Amino acid sequence: MQHLVWFRTDLRVADNPALYEAAANGAQVHAIYIDCPKQWQLHGRSPIQRDFLSRHLQALSEQLAALGIPFTLLSAPTFAGVPEVLASWLAKHPHHALYANREVAVDERRRDKAVQQRLKEVLDIRVFNGDCVFNPGSLTTLNGDMYKVFTPFAKTWLKALRNTGYRLLPTPNAQGDALSVTQCDLSGERVSSEHWPAGEQQAAEQLASFCEDHLLDYGEQRDFPAVTGTSQLSPYLALGILSPNQCLAAIEQALGTLPTSRGERGFVWLNEIIWREFYRHLMVAFSRLSMNRAFKPETEALQWSQDTESFAAWCTGQTGYPIVDAAMRCLNETGWMHNRLRMIVASFLTKDLHLSWRQGEDYFMSRLIDAELAANNGGWQWAAGTGADAAPYFRVFNPVTQSKRFDEQGDFIRHWLPELAKVPAKFIHQPQTWLEQHQLGHTYPAPIVDHNRARKYAIAMFDALKDQESS
Ligand code: FAD
Repeated sequence: MQHLVWFRTDLRVADNPALYEAAANGAQVHAIYIDCPKQWQLHGRSPIQRDFLSRHLQALSEQLAALGIPFTLLSAPTFAGVPEVLASWLAKHPHHALYANREVAVDERRRDKAVQQRLKEVLDIRVFNGDCVFNPGSLTTLNGDMYKVFTPFAKTWLKALRNTGYRLLPTPNAQGDALSVTQCDLSGERVSSEHWPAGEQQAAEQLASFCEDHLLDYGEQRDFPAVTGTSQLSPYLALGILSPNQCLAAIEQALGTLPTSRGERGFVWLNEIIWREFYRHLMVAFSRLSMNRAFKPETEALQWSQDTESFAAWCTGQTGYPIVDAAMRCLNETGWMHNRLRMIVASFLTKDLHLSWRQGEDYFMSRLIDAELAANNGGWQWAAGTGADAAPYFRVFNPVTQSKRFDEQGDFIRHWLPELAKVPAKFIHQPQTWLEQHQLGHTYPAPIVDHNRARKYAIAMFDALKDQESS
């Protein structure tokens, strides 16, 4: 039997249901990846993530070669060309069945439907859940609907974990002698991602060392960007180099047991994995989330600002709010940003500058090494107050208070804003007066917006929505 495995955002050989099932019972497996460079651009995906993808595909190609699994890199400009590319390739390389793991966003689901239509007569297509611990659509309210609020979703998720556990699949056995390695050097704009080691083995090591050294302190440390308190595994999870099941297994390995309720050791980090799943389940249940639309339809009527100058200041880290500027410069330089900072800059863009969350979402997509639609859209709509279980609209982050709380000594700020290197901790969060006094006022911009006034305006924007609804 000849089985074809189509890799997508599941770029690993361990705990990969499609690969595992394809190779079961000694079937011969051939693996493919279909690169769609134009689609990458249309989705506004970042050059740093493309570089990471390219480097990782190379590592995957080496792993497959060592397992004796031939690997072919195919290409179509966009998803629209995928059915034809697959059909032509299969005409020359006949297979009995195609194995793949499901993806959650709507364009990917439409592509798969088109493939199904085109190829269902010539081969058996088998689709698996390799992306979430529990298959999107399988955890619902008593009415059979997807949860719209995180806490009940998490309760049901944990109940399912207690009842059924999770399934961790091994790497399939080698199917023959090692093969020569396929070269995978993707075309298109790329920005070096060398800071992030590519490869499944690297991801597994980072996961193990995080669970060994930081898991138990995560609850206390995860909010401080100057401290390495989070796992920084998001680039690997975003491309499926690592699976959520592997995260669960690593927690269990480190603690000897898996926390399944709030308050248990290690639960705070597990809870983040559940947030990841929440957004992915939402994406499948509510296709509009992949289509640039707000989760709460009534918020479509919000009148966002069109100001290009304030957007440019936000993008380049020139807002005059040091915590916002340091975060944005860190993103621009490294392709990664700490979660606390993502919340701060997202709140600032939407509630202080009154710019649409869509602009922020697109910018993050174009810069992040861990860019992925479900978490990015979920995070932006949460911050803007337009999403499922979003922050209440009247809760607006004060960037100065946040800065004082989470970067008290200004270590993170000073690292990314060298022009503030000399500013003492007491003044670092609002440095303008100190800079003036020391005749350094020209080195850093004045705040581009008055937070208190902007906050009131943001609340009024949402209040106006309520008035429209009731009139
Ligand atoms: P850890 O704290 O170690 O958490 C472990 C894993 O859990 C993460 O790697 C991630 O896969 C998942 N996770 C953690 N927090 C969240 C969350 N709030 N929502 C969903 N999953 C979560 N995450 C992305 O992976 N890609 C994005 O494009 C993305 N965009 C975001 C945009 C905004 C505005 C916000 C507020 C959050 C966004 N997040 C995104 C979620 C979160 O900020 C990152 O997952 C996290 O900072 C990654 O760092 P870490 O791996 O050290 O996370």
